[in-house]
Amino acid sequence: QLEDKVHSTIMEINLTALAHNLKAYQQHLQPGTKLMAMIKAGGYGSGSAEVANVLQYHKVDYLAVAYADEGVELRKAGISLPILVLNVDEAAFEAIVDNNLEPELFSFNILQAFIHYLSRQGIQQYPVHIKVDTGMHRLGFEEKDIPELIAVLTNTKSIAVKSVFTHLAASEAEEEDTFTQQQYNIFDRCSNRLQKALKYNFIRHIANSAAIFRHPAIQLDMVRLGIGLYGVDSANEHQLQLQTVCTLKTTIAQLRWIKAGDTVGYNRRGKATKDELIATLRIGYADGVSRRLSNGVGSVWIKGKPAPIIGNVCMDMLMVVATGIEGVQEGDEAEIFGKNIPVQLVAQQCGTISYEILTGISQRVKRIYI
Ligand code: PLP
Repeated sequence: QLEDKVHSTIMEINLTALAHNLKAYQQHLQPGTKLMAMIKAGGYGSGSAEVANVLQYHKVDYLAVAYADEGVELRKAGISLPILVLNVDEAAFEAIVDNNLEPELFSFNILQAFIHYLSRQGIQQYPVHIKVDTGMHRLGFEEKDIPELIAVLTNTKSIAVKSVFTHLAASEAEEEDTFTQQQYNIFDRCSNRLQKALKYNFIRHIANSAAIFRHPAIQLDMVRLGIGLYGVDSANEHQLQLQTVCTLKTTIAQLRWIKAGDTVGYNRRGKATKDELIATLRIGYADGVSRRLSNGVGSVWIKGKPAPIIGNVCMDMLMVVATGIEGVQEGDEAEIFGKNIPVQLVAQQCGTISYEILTGISQRVKRIYI
């Protein structure tokens, strides 16, 4: 393909590593616990259809996306697994039903609106997922809403509750374990009351990647695995031995020697204290490499060595110090993150989390699957 040849900045996605990470978590599941894989935001930047294909092959039980259009894309790609849509609005109802997607219902407004939509269409027993807010305070019914929720749910034939779930606010943090337990207790009370009233079984789920490992007792009927799948160990449990899935890389466009005292890039921010070899790379902030990495904050990896960024990161390019990298040539590859420069390190240098780095790699960057 022409596109593959004309742009050397790529995000390489190692699907074998992804499958390895899936297995690593599966091994930590209690017998019978189902697994939902989170592939929202284009599979955390990795490409949702490609990732979904691997997950379907490895027989995960469920997929989850943030928005209906992400689910539609998966259906178009031939994915037949059940798909939960987390952030639903009324405008998406038609796409949801037409594509056999399963909405998260989190408020009385959205619940009533969906019931009306289904009854207008003459649809019964449509699978939905009830979200309970146990302390995250983002989306969901609160404990005080349960009686009214039960009244609505027991009064309609339009929907069938397939699962009841909540989201933990700080499952990775030991200092928040009491809060996590409190969230679980609220969830347990709410889901028990719903269970009693509905008189049929639904799936209960609460655990994200960090909780699968740190709080095995609350894996319940299903877990929702996100970041761990993509090789980032959010709980810092090295026992998991996750493999790197995403490698962002580019090539050197030009090499030049500059003299001590010369400056590099916009605003003359980079200053050479001695003669230096400068490599200009074909990647910039428009590709998702944060300008916060400018001038010594971040480094790239060239021929087995770190090369610090010098000067401000530009829109489509950035410059690094390549002095001392033996045999370096124009056209050589540079890793921005991957096996040698962990995405967690880049996130730390940018003052953010790996999730934001991975999902922030722009569409201009071609995804290559290995
Ligand atoms: N469940 C919900 C509702 C989420 O929003 C997310 C991700 O943000 C996850 C599960 C997965 O979390 P993680 O990527 O930390 O595993």
